[in-house]
Order: sequence, then C-alpha cells, then structure tokens
Amino acid sequence: MTRLHNFCAGPAAMPTAVLERAREELLDYQGRGLSVMEMSHRSPTFEAIAAKAEQDLRELLAIPDNYRVLFMQGGATMQFACVPLNLLGNGGTPNYLDTGIWSTKAIKEAQHLATVDSPLANAHIAGSTRDSGYVHVPRPDEVSLSDDAAYLHYCHNETIGGLAYDYVPEVRVPEVRVPEADVPLVCDMSSSILSTPLDVSRYGVIYAGAQKNIGPAGITVVIVRDDLLDRAMPQTPSLLGWKVYADNDSMINTPPTYAWYLAGLVFEWLKHDIGGLAEMEAINRRKCEALYAAIDSSDFYANPIEPANRSIMNVPFTLADESLNATFLDEAESAGLLNLKGHRSVGGMRASLYNAVSEADVQALITFMQDFERRRG
Ligand code: PMP
Repeated sequence: MTRLHNFCAGPAAMPTAVLERAREELLDYQGRGLSVMEMSHRSPTFEAIAAKAEQDLRELLAIPDNYRVLFMQGGATMQFACVPLNLLGNGGTPNYLDTGIWSTKAIKEAQHLATVDSPLANAHIAGSTRDSGYVHVPRPDEVSLSDDAAYLHYCHNETIGGLAYDYVPEVRVPEVRVPEADVPLVCDMSSSILSTPLDVSRYGVIYAGAQKNIGPAGITVVIVRDDLLDRAMPQTPSLLGWKVYADNDSMINTPPTYAWYLAGLVFEWLKHDIGGLAEMEAINRRKCEALYAAIDSSDFYANPIEPANRSIMNVPFTLADESLNATFLDEAESAGLLNLKGHRSVGGMRASLYNAVSEADVQALITFMQDFERRRG
C-alpha cells in the first residue's frame, strides 16, 4: 500500500493512524458485531461515541462551559445562512469583513436573506481589502461597525486566497445603541480550526466544515455561546436553528453518524498522537515556514500575500512562467504529489498543509519544486 502526498484543499488528507483505526473497527466496532455506520444514532454505543467526540473537542479547544457544541450537516455554506437566521431575530444590521471569496459568499447569503425577508438585514461591510487585491486583511483601525451591528462576521482563513488574520477583530460599536457585549463576533474557521490553540471566549459563534482539519465531509461543527441561542428569526426552519440542535444533542434528525465517529477519532489523534494544539501549531508553523522560505528564496515561485497575513494552512503560489503550470502539475502527480492545482477561480498552484499533512510531505514538495526549477527554470 502506498499513501501519496495529498495537498488537497478539502476534502483533505486524513491522518493515516485514524484511517487504520477506522479500518480495524469497520466491520465490528469494539465487539458489538456491527459497524458504527450500521448503528442507531439513539443507541447507547453511538451516544457514547458522540459524547466523547464533543468532550475531546472541548478539551482540545478549551471550550468554556457556557458554549454549546453543535454537530450539523450542510457544510459551512449552510452556516452562511444560519448566521443571519439565528442572530437577526432582535433586528440590527449584520456586519461583515470582506477578505476574499469565502467571506464574500457569506455576505451574499445575508444579502439574499434581506431580499426575501427582513429589510433590516442589509449587510454592512465593516472592512474590506478587495481594492488591494486581498493580499492583506483589514488592519484593526480600518474596521468600522455600523452603530446597530447585530454581529460581526469574518473568515479567519481564506482557503482560496491563502490569507489569514493575525489578530482577533474587536467588536467596537461607534454609538452605544447596542451594548458592546451584545455584538457577537462570528467566525468561519473552516480551514483553520484545530491548527493552533484558540481563545474561544473572544467569539460568539465559531463554525467550520469538517473536511479540512476535523474529518470527512458531511459534518459541520458550530460552537455557540449559549446566550445567543434565543436570537433566531421566528421563521427560521427548525433544521437551520442552532437552538434546536442545542436542545436535542444535535440529534433533531438522523445525524451523519459515521462522519461524527471519524471526527472523534481525529480529535483523539490530536490529543494522544500529537499531544494537543500547541504541539500541532509548532508542527504546522515548521511546515509552512519551510514552504514559504522555499518560495521566497526563488525567482521562479511567488506568493502574493503580505507576510503577516500568510495562511499557515493554504499556500498558493505561481510560477514565473505560467506556460509551465500544466507540466508542473503533471510531473508533481507522477512524483506522488497530489492536488496542487490552485482553485479554478484564481489559477496557479496551492498546497494545503492541513494537520494530517506531515513535515515529510512538505519536504517532498519542496524537493520536487527545487528540482523542477533546476530543470525548467
Ligand atoms: N468557508 C471556507 C473558509 C471554506 O474553505 C469552505 C470550503 N472550502 C467553505 C466555507 C464552504 O464549505 P462547505 O463546502 O463545507 O460548504
């Protein structure tokens, strides 16, 4: 068996140890005589799997007790709609920071909701770096909320652009119409959650699709402060309402049980094999620093993002001679380096260095890039 070097942006590489454990337990989960995917979600065995996954995630992220952890479906894209639906029940204007493709999609969803429903839901752009080509995030003094802000949403790590915040935006409201504490910070952490430790208490809501650092596609984690669960618009469909999930242990209907189980195995791997998120961050920093150094030390490769805002998870890069793109990708694939093509909207290359991508994988990529440059540069 050969496992190749997988730099996919998502669904992304899974830790080999997790897949091995899943293989061991595939037909007969711990002597129960059946697979986890064949169990009732209401069985004590699955309830224990679900509860352990939540507990391990709470430990990894040091999630305070006044936060609920929800396991939903629909991906992060569904949360783009859930955020306004669940937070605009008391009125106010949704505020958004714009740093690229994913934050723009979230903004569009809130605006869409405005046209079908509330005239209040006219998204206010509290900061944007669109004009400078999204090569940096808005600086703290460039963030300006509307005085009736219902929440401030941002995307911590723009997966396509390879752009990440180097600070947690502050929720400062110019007028005191809404008490400051009432304006929650909402963050799309799909492509960066679990890559470093995190101070959850700075946030009202954190959400993340699973298929990068959590597990396979099909499950979405939402971490929400419990006092925010009563702000939903009344017409929110029950399957989109966070409170319904919170009140039903995320089992309002049949949850994606196998994805939930695999996410639990990933959390165990992070705790026991890696040793926690501080250790994970150290590994992740070594990985991306090695790759950025290789890019910066060459005239053949380039990354456009300002150093302070370079993503530690997604590293886009271009070749000086773009006519070599297809050859680069073909040769990379022959060398066992998969999924390096940049997103179709931006072109070029992108190496995603999620948690399950090892330092050896990154070293193999760097060696290939240097060899390619020697031969073709
Ligand atoms: N937000 C970010 C930052 C993403 O990277 C993605 C997917 N790549 C999404 C949202 C959308 O996620 P999903 O496909 O799970 O809806």
